[in-house]
Amino acid sequence: MPMSVFPTDDRETRSLTLPETLESVRGVDLHLHSTSSDGKLSPTELADLCHARGMTHVALTDHDTLDGVEEARQRCRHHGIHLMAAAELSCQWRGIALHIVALLPHGTSRALDAGLASLVHARELRSREIAHRLEKVGLDDGLARARREAGSERPLGRPDFAAALVSAGVVPDIKTAFKRYLGAGKRGDVRMHWPELATVVGWIRDAQGIAVVAHPLRYGMTRRKRDLMFSAFIEAGGEAAELVSGYQSPDTTHDLARQLDFHGLYGSIGSDFHYPGGALSPGTISPPPRSHVKPVWCHPSLRGFACGE
Ligand code: AMP
Ligand code: MN
Ligand code: MN
Ligand code: MN
Repeated sequence: MPMSVFPTDDRETRSLTLPETLESVRGVDLHLHSTSSDGKLSPTELADLCHARGMTHVALTDHDTLDGVEEARQRCRHHGIHLMAAAELSCQWRGIALHIVALLPHGTSRALDAGLASLVHARELRSREIAHRLEKVGLDDGLARARREAGSERPLGRPDFAAALVSAGVVPDIKTAFKRYLGAGKRGDVRMHWPELATVVGWIRDAQGIAVVAHPLRYGMTRRKRDLMFSAFIEAGGEAAELVSGYQSPDTTHDLARQLDFHGLYGSIGSDFHYPGGALSPGTISPPPRSHVKPVWCHPSLRGFACGE
């Protein structure tokens, strides 16, 4: 028999093409953070960890920015990992803060760039408002403290204010900071500066990207409310939602799969990894169940990514 010139190594073959179902897929993580937003690893360090963890297809999804993508791309190329340009965009729907992951196989566009710039501005205004509100619970100089905690000039986020509350001795730990002051509906959860859901989905469509509802189970919505949210999202041009985000119970995931299937949404998966040493790592995702939900990489626009081109 003649020797094949094609790779027969299992690992290499697997790294080229993704399966057409979500069930038991490995090596894929489409929700990861770096120091370009509130993650603790640089894009390079993140790519190294993804490689060490056997990831083959990843998306860097920093909050409201594409800043880390180029650095991550270079390092991922070095490791032979397929990287999707992406970002996790902040918006609001019916007064609830939502996160929409933009998967961008064609990169950005003018409208999306302008949208990202407006989100940076919104973050600045929001930071001032959060600092102002946290003064009342005993955090002095909140803006400067949060900036120190961030350790760079990147836009501030609620985790920086949580760290400021801890270092100022207002609360014992980050968890308590969110529970008391920064979590959904608390005084530091300032949503008014974020654009509407439909606006953000419009920017993503303009860049020929795919809009994905991030962690749909983490907004404290009833199933009925989630139905309404998905309908509004689809009406705006949204096409996918995360079926699994980090750890999820099988029952909840099963029900979410039914809901995505009902709405005809593609399913994505991601760890929402921010830093090592916690419960999550790149690729830490509860196993997706058998379902009719199509993986987001089966979307015609992501064919190149799924096939490793
Ligand atoms: P922001 O984008 O500024 O609104 O901050 C949102 C980020 O805060 C999330 O992406 C998480 O990284 C973090 N976060 C949200 N809720 C919690 C929580 N309960 N405990 C710890 N971190 C949280
Ligand atoms: Mn975050
Ligand atoms: Mn999020
Ligand atoms: Mn995230």
